Amino acid sequence: MGKVVVAALAAGCTVAACVVASVMVRRSVRRRRGWRRVVRVLEELEEGCATPVGRLRQVVDAMAVEMHAGLASEGGSKLKMLLTYVHNLPTGNEKGTYYALDLGGTNFRVLRVQLGGQRSAIIRHDLDRQPIPQNLMTSTSEELFDFIATSLKDFVEREESFSLTSQQERRELGFTFSYPVKQTSTSSGNLIKWTKGFSVEDMVGRDVSECLQQAISQKGLDMRVAVLINDTVGTLALGHYHDEDTVTAVIFGTGTNACYLERADAIIKCQGLITTSGSTVVNLEWGNFWSSHLPRTSYDIDLDADSPNPNDQGFEKMISGMYLGEIVRRVILQMMQESDVLRPFSSKLDVPFILRTQLMAAMHEDDSPNLSEVARILNDTFEIPDVPLNFRKLVVKICDVVTCRAARLAAAGIVGILKKIGRDGSGGIASGKTKGGSQNKMRRTVVAVEGGLYTNYRMFREYLNEAMGQILGEDVAPYVVIRVTEDGSGIGAALLAASHSASSSALDRVST
Ligand code: ADP
Ligand code: MG
Repeated sequence: MGKVVVAALAAGCTVAACVVASVMVRRSVRRRRGWRRVVRVLEELEEGCATPVGRLRQVVDAMAVEMHAGLASEGGSKLKMLLTYVHNLPTGNEKGTYYALDLGGTNFRVLRVQLGGQRSAIIRHDLDRQPIPQNLMTSTSEELFDFIATSLKDFVEREESFSLTSQQERRELGFTFSYPVKQTSTSSGNLIKWTKGFSVEDMVGRDVSECLQQAISQKGLDMRVAVLINDTVGTLALGHYHDEDTVTAVIFGTGTNACYLERADAIIKCQGLITTSGSTVVNLEWGNFWSSHLPRTSYDIDLDADSPNPNDQGFEKMISGMYLGEIVRRVILQMMQESDVLRPFSSKLDVPFILRTQLMAAMHEDDSPNLSEVARILNDTFEIPDVPLNFRKLVVKICDVVTCRAARLAAAGIVGILKKIGRDGSGGIASGKTKGGSQNKMRRTVVAVEGGLYTNYRMFREYLNEAMGQILGEDVAPYVVIRVTEDGSGIGAALLAASHSASSSALDRVST
């Protein structure tokens, strides 16, 4: 009897052990299969985002060709190539106190700049920076400008109460408005469209400067909007103020854009444009650049389709700070949908733009041995606790692939501009590839850069710089200098307000 019970028990245990073993084997097979699928998603991403130098050179050529087309006729290219009417950049002789207001995609800055009358002698600049309240980004122009004018007035009162010198004349303001504007003069222009998540519909088509001037006057503030500029133009102005070899400026912040100095006679669509300097600043609005050579993935296509501006700002959606974190979120989501390596599924993964690019950068640059920062951010953002180390490594790799592509394409864009103006060592776009010895004709060329993505994201910066060297080649690359102009978009606006102000002598403006 006892023997029978023992035998039955033993048989039972064996069956149970077999069941447990087979469950474990099945689980392990499933996990391995799931893991293989996740790795496959990463491999496909890497293939889709590949940017070998040959492809970057095609993007360079496409950028230069599109710039030509955009200058030849209105609507000739996806690049708008907007005239800014800024024909003269600051000389260094500007003197006095000027204000600037910089409406970016994320932040709103008010500045007061004191200029000493000698190149590079900015005596001081005071800055008030605050995030743009989310609700104002989709409100009415009245609410948006009321908020701006209130912040401006508060800042002026605060600053002038500390100031030892009293305000001499009417205050002059440079307004940096970083959205596509059809300028009608240096101080006026109509909004073409919103980008970077803004959508204040009653503003489209209206004079941006006039809206601000009205709001300022309603607040009883004695201030004139002396110039209306794009952030790229402000950055170029400050870059040129410090270094006359600065010929182009690029922004890598919430959005991305570039401007450069062009010969007035090269602007075919505006025949008869005569400037004393012979040149003028052109705003590319390169966020909207497109070329079949751009490496596009299903994530880009879906992001675009789900955006409020589909088929628009294609380059920006691959490059700028507003979008990089979102691309990474979409890849992680895809991995979760294709496999069950991380369970339970977190609904937070479905929330668009929940992973901000700052967090993506923090994960990418996590140098702790067990990637504890990656684990923390995945937990805080997506509510996925205890992500295993091998998955954390995968997430870092996703960030790397997405940022590497963005930075390399950005570099190709910059070289495209240099090619258009014959500063890439190839002798301009008509003469094709770089010839041996052409670097002898190279001139020192400075590219002014501004924006939180470039200044705060080391890996983005390093990939961009590396790609510049690869595209230009070792003979030409040393002539091209990338220079960060901190707060350039705001300080540059104050400088341009100074050089375009009524009190500033026309003699202070020098040809560029
Ligand atoms: P704006 O675009 O409002 O003018 P900034 O030039 O300061 O403002 O850029 C802010 C953007 O830069 C953020 O929206 C973000 O996309 C990006 N950014 C800021 N800090 C970081 C960071 N540490 N790492 C990566 N991207 C960053
Ligand atoms: Mg900005």
